[in-house]
Amino acid sequence: MGSQASEAGFHFYLDYQKCKRFWFNKYVRKLEKNDKAPALIFGEAGHAAMEQYYNDIMAKVPFHERPARAKEVFVNQLQEAQERYRYHDRFEDDIQRALNIMDLYPLHYAGDTLMPIVVEQLHDVELNNGQHFTGRIDLVVTNAQGQRYIMDHKFTGWSLNSFSKSVQASDQATAYLYLWNTSHPDEPASGVIFNIIREYKGNVNFLRPIVTKTRNDIREFELDLMDEQEDIMRRLNNPQARWPKNTGACFMFNRPCEYIEICAGENFQPMEDIKFHVNDSTS
Ligand code: SF4
Repeated sequence: MGSQASEAGFHFYLDYQKCKRFWFNKYVRKLEKNDKAPALIFGEAGHAAMEQYYNDIMAKVPFHERPARAKEVFVNQLQEAQERYRYHDRFEDDIQRALNIMDLYPLHYAGDTLMPIVVEQLHDVELNNGQHFTGRIDLVVTNAQGQRYIMDHKFTGWSLNSFSKSVQASDQATAYLYLWNTSHPDEPASGVIFNIIREYKGNVNFLRPIVTKTRNDIREFELDLMDEQEDIMRRLNNPQARWPKNTGACFMFNRPCEYIEICAGENFQPMEDIKFHVNDSTS
């Protein structure tokens, strides 16, 4: 059992914090979800487009060529998703939203002084207890003063203000700073910039709140991680362990949990049938 929770990423622990039954369904039972949320598909396609965009900046692709190249990636991913997932009748709208975003983003940040230095890099940190914590960092930039910042892209339809508060309240910035600063102690990042891109009914808005954390915040995050690892191991090693539901998490951001039908008893699978097996490196 010892290596089963190793190399686990941020969502591995976030899911555990959210709802232990959700975690059990996802990582142990490996149950099929009812569907993949359209917003998640859109966000993943947007991340791929941003990866292309910032790689092009680093490769010195001319400014006027970058939007078309990023749009192509965005649209291709949405089209692939349409074939892979049960998608919905707003597909054409999503393509239009993607094109709209990639028209406006380069213009909005045309005078950006933040220079990309690392694009989409996987990090792996070994904790004091021998377990690993992994995570993919979207982007690292430097400002005009040479300070490094981690940048995390966020696509949303929510109000910028609410979304900005939700990312600032979450542990995500701490997790990124822990990963980067532990892996690069001589080149620490000063904070995390959440690159929020909001599209709603044809309007696109941008906001980049900066979140900073103290050394103590980061140390506490590491201790919390180790606590959660031990808690996960304790449950996994006990076949009688309970995996309690957190019904307060069944609807988040107005979306039902992927396992809502299972928890509601409409697609019941007896818990005894489950083989204990975890093999995940979700970042
Ligand atoms: S539906 Fe609710 S209780 Fe069930 S796994 Fe999801 S969050 Fe947990």
